[in-house]
Amino acid sequence: MVPRITEIQGSGIREIMAMALQKPSVIRLEVGEPDFDTPSHIVEAACQALKSGSTRYISNTGLAPLRQAAARFFETSTGVATTPDQILVTHGAILSLATAWHLLVDEGDEVLIPDPGWPNYTMLTRLVRGVPRFYQLTPQSDFQPNTAQIESQIGPRTKLMVLCSPSNPTGQVYGESVIRNILSLARERDLYVVSDEIYSNIVFEGSHTSALPYDTDDRTVVVHGVSKSYAMTGFRVGFTRATADYVVQGAKLQEALVSCGTAASQAAALAALEGPQDCVREMRDVYRQRRDLACDELTRHGLGFWRPHGAFYLLIDIAPSGMDGREFALKLIDEKNVAVAPGPTFGQVSRSFIRISLASSEDNIKTGIERIAEMVNDRGPHSDG
Ligand code: PLP
Repeated sequence: MVPRITEIQGSGIREIMAMALQKPSVIRLEVGEPDFDTPSHIVEAACQALKSGSTRYISNTGLAPLRQAAARFFETSTGVATTPDQILVTHGAILSLATAWHLLVDEGDEVLIPDPGWPNYTMLTRLVRGVPRFYQLTPQSDFQPNTAQIESQIGPRTKLMVLCSPSNPTGQVYGESVIRNILSLARERDLYVVSDEIYSNIVFEGSHTSALPYDTDDRTVVVHGVSKSYAMTGFRVGFTRATADYVVQGAKLQEALVSCGTAASQAAALAALEGPQDCVREMRDVYRQRRDLACDELTRHGLGFWRPHGAFYLLIDIAPSGMDGREFALKLIDEKNVAVAPGPTFGQVSRSFIRISLASSEDNIKTGIERIAEMVNDRGPHSDG
């Protein structure tokens, strides 16, 4: 087997998840998966599609009506004209990301990745023999990217910059001026931008700023999908908005890797985009309530944390325990039966953090935080033992 693959490190989230699956009574706060049922009109659309014979191969680029709906989605949400031939429907948003890395990053090219950031960006970079370069998002600067710090990481081989807002794992939503400055830096230094906007419908305060309106010369690939906002992780439908030429090349890659997407899943995604949007608002409001509850509980227990403005994640500072985030997460699942994502898997900046997911019941969040607090206090410098 080739070292390029065998040497890739899997994500620490999956490490804890694998342990959680062996312990039926564990409180699951590690995984980023909505705990809601997929809205019934979306499930119904998938069933109808199957019953009416959508059981065959489809176009590499995705079902035509879904591409039209996705183009409308980008136009309405960003104000930027988008035609269906600028949409590539993929097998989950992850394949939109994988397509971008394959099309834009050559061996030895550098990719600017947020630290902390979703581990898959680093895995993809290694997969295509690129070199990850990290730019820091620090609690001191509210986890907002700093253009000067990003600029200091750019070298002659830097090819691509990754943005993720709302962010996994911080839950920060990047400000309008931040996005504008970053896009202008990308233009000056001739970098491609991949803007992962999968959580754009889950914003609690203010509004989401897409990178698209700030791109004046087609250097940005926007990644979106239905997994998170419509509780459709198992349907595996994502989409890319890029140039028509990019879509032609991306479709070739899909053909090589997966032939095409799944007709019934794409029919369901069409129902999601075109159907009533109350479900998206309702789920977002529940995440917001859970965010508020979690922040109150963390404050009550005296734990350090960062209040998220979007997505459904929350970073908790466990430095007072004296452990790093991985050691803490392993002990927590073992001794307190609570699964959380270890901070080091997202990068250096978050090494003494853990990430909890708000895609779990209020009871789970409350009990989980109580046990996290016990663990910090058991092991911390103030404990007697
Ligand atoms: N981008 C980010 C930031 C994510 O957190 C995830 C999933 O956790 C994805 C993309 C992938 O989404 P999908 O399930 O549609 O592949």
